[in-house]
Amino acid sequence: MRFCPQCGQPLNDQEQAGRVRRSCPDDACGFVHWDNPTPVVAAIIEHLDSAGHILLARNRAWTFEFYALITGFLERDETPEAGVAREVMEETGLETESTDLVGVYAFPRRNEVIIVYHVRARGEIRLNEELSAYKLVPPEELVPWEQGTGMGLRDWMRARGLNVPPPVNPNPP
Ligand SMILES: [Zn+2]
Repeated sequence: MRFCPQCGQPLNDQEQAGRVRRSCPDDACGFVHWDNPTPVVAAIIEHLDSAGHILLARNRAWTFEFYALITGFLERDETPEAGVAREVMEETGLETESTDLVGVYAFPRRNEVIIVYHVRARGEIRLNEELSAYKLVPPEELVPWEQGTGMGLRDWMRARGLNVPPPVNPNPP
């Protein structure tokens, strides 16, 4: 961020609350780019119509072969539970029956905080335009990946007493 979104002046670096942050030089404006992480919800989808297999999906924008959890941003005034159920419906067409919190994970590379849920869902899988493919994996065959949502999958597997193989590097963009 180079210019103040409130008054248009070039931002500079100032110490604010213990860190150097991009700040507006105009004291009357007082804008500070805090650069706080954005919350993201993620779903470990247990597809109840597929013997409880876990749905992993491939994002159309990914240039590498990798399947991951369904994720999305929250809308204003939306609870994380409602947000993850909405994302599951939008991206896969599945109806959420229950959501259980798995854990909350820092993801500094994208300046996000990821809230991972175990989502039990039903219905016919219909991917939206963001996704190009999916696979249904028996829980005992899952392999977590390093960083981000992969840590949630690892913890979910551990909590179920599953053997957790070493995480793979998804080589994300
Ligand atoms: Zn300003």
